[in-house]
Amino acid sequence: IPAAPGLSSPPKENFSLDAAALLQFLPLSKTLPKILPLLRPQIPRILSAWACAAVSVSALYAFVPQVGQLSSLLAAGDLVSVRRKAAMAIFLISAKSLAQYWQQALLWEVALGVTCDVRCHVFETVLRKDMSYFEGQSGAAKGDIAYRITAEADATGETIYAFLKMVVPCFLQLAAMAGRMLSLSPVLSFATVSVVPCMSVVIAILGEQLRALSKRGQDSIARLSAYVNEVLPSMLIVKACAAESYEDERFKRLAVIDRQAHLMKKKMKAFIPEIITGAYAATGVVLFALGAWVISKGNFDGTGMVSFITSLVLLIEPIQQIGKAYNEMKQGEPAVERLFDLTSSFPKILDEEASRRHLKNVIGDVVFDNVCFSYGATSPRVLQNINFHVCAGETVALVGPSGGGKTTLAKLLLRLYEPTQGNILIDGENIQGVSLESLRQQVAIVPQETALFTGTVMENIAYGVMSNDIDMKRVERAATMANADEFIRRLPDGYETNLGERGSSLSGGQRQRIAIARAIYHGPSILILDEATSALDNRSEKLVREALEQLMIGRTVFIIAHRLETVQKAARIFLLDGGKLVEEGTHSSLIARGGQYASLFSAGRDDIRPQLTAK
Ligand code: ADP
Ligand code: MG
Repeated sequence: IPAAPGLSSPPKENFSLDAAALLQFLPLSKTLPKILPLLRPQIPRILSAWACAAVSVSALYAFVPQVGQLSSLLAAGDLVSVRRKAAMAIFLISAKSLAQYWQQALLWEVALGVTCDVRCHVFETVLRKDMSYFEGQSGAAKGDIAYRITAEADATGETIYAFLKMVVPCFLQLAAMAGRMLSLSPVLSFATVSVVPCMSVVIAILGEQLRALSKRGQDSIARLSAYVNEVLPSMLIVKACAAESYEDERFKRLAVIDRQAHLMKKKMKAFIPEIITGAYAATGVVLFALGAWVISKGNFDGTGMVSFITSLVLLIEPIQQIGKAYNEMKQGEPAVERLFDLTSSFPKILDEEASRRHLKNVIGDVVFDNVCFSYGATSPRVLQNINFHVCAGETVALVGPSGGGKTTLAKLLLRLYEPTQGNILIDGENIQGVSLESLRQQVAIVPQETALFTGTVMENIAYGVMSNDIDMKRVERAATMANADEFIRRLPDGYETNLGERGSSLSGGQRQRIAIARAIYHGPSILILDEATSALDNRSEKLVREALEQLMIGRTVFIIAHRLETVQKAARIFLLDGGKLVEEGTHSSLIARGGQYASLFSAGRDDIRPQLTAK
């Protein structure tokens, strides 16, 4: 059997594989390159923190011999000297504590500062992702994003703290105490220190286990949070289907998985320090036996032994902290990875400022030139060879069965997606060549689902504009055109009414009219109304329709509608079915033609009779 090409040169390949495996063992080997650039602006703080660590370790280094001497002076009963030595020791320990406090405070400042930066950076990249990123994922995955930006960003901060504390302060103390021990008794030092590498290996192995368990715990809690985020917004359906017990059962199953994952992690966390303590105890036994032997040889004494033990205790402290920091970093690693995953893909629909022209003084002439589109490389075509020319100021209606591609067409016009083939032109300009911002100021959409945000009515209408820059006159004008001014003035605080609290008490028609006002606030020349009247009762629909009639003046308007009565006023009607433009014409010409539109119209006639007779 011929060898696979990749395996034909074993020595080198094997070496690099081993190196990779070893690197895997080091915490943060993959995530460190991402974190380090974030630390760059914090360098002065980090260096100050490390300087504090140096002060604290120096104080400790000076403190160690004081302890041995103190014990000898005590044994000799020299109380005056004891007092002096004790005062010195207390001074050194206080200096150490103070410096250590400053070191920790500074490192936390760094870690939390980076957490905040990372959080903002990740949210910004998420905001700028393509629409396909948000539509392609289920609600569950969006819950996951919220979790990553909150809890996992926190975990990232803890990891950074652990890392910064480990690399300098812990190793500094370790080195200082090892130096002290060596100066006191090289023999005893080598005997004790030889235990350290063995312990490090054990700690590393246990740490690796802990990391895997920790990732399981984080995954399971993320699933739980995503699940809750998915179910709660759909409470209406849950209740209507009497599915409380069903959902309860599903939640319990996830909760139990989470409990098990966390229990295993906690057990491992409880196990690791015990193993370490056991190892220390063993070291202690060896140390005392050896100490007795060294003293019997005559070149060491009790004072030295006390100092030696003191420095050993102070050596163990940083080792324990390194172990702890190592574990924290291992545990935090999946969180850091998942957080940075969010920033690893880049939007395809880009807006390189330099090369983009701004759409200005648009009159609203829209051309679809042989546009084809599918949502994914392997997905079926949603739009096929769409050709039309809508003149400036014209109102056209898009009708057709659900799934026909009407909303997709609107999304293409907003350049939320790009055609897989063909071009879309506004005033003769290909929309791929103009800046996204200017395009989206000229093309506005009123979607079927009205999204209201926390904030006042005013802020909702002037959405996207910072509060201080809102043009009140413009807001009122937009609201008046949307037939919303009157009801807004009747709200408790008028335009200042907070929708965060009261948004849900607005009727569907009121919400819709706020959405229309929002769409026209910036004075778009092209307006898309996607089933804007489908969820309304007759009275609100009449108000909304009146508003629409005003909006059509001087604008190019695309009305997407289920209900055919809404579209009769349109200059032209396009019938989209299965992604194809199957019929096109005025209402009367299409009726006269007796095709699909005519049959749709007669099927819907019962619906519209009251309205027709009202005229
Ligand atoms: P309409 O608005 O006419 O009801 P849509 O444009 O919403 O139709 O949908 C057209 C087709 O595209 C449907 O088959 C729908 O399932 C599919 N579709 C819509 N949005 C997406 C999406 N984000 N990803 C994949 N397919 C989609
Ligand atoms: Mg639709």
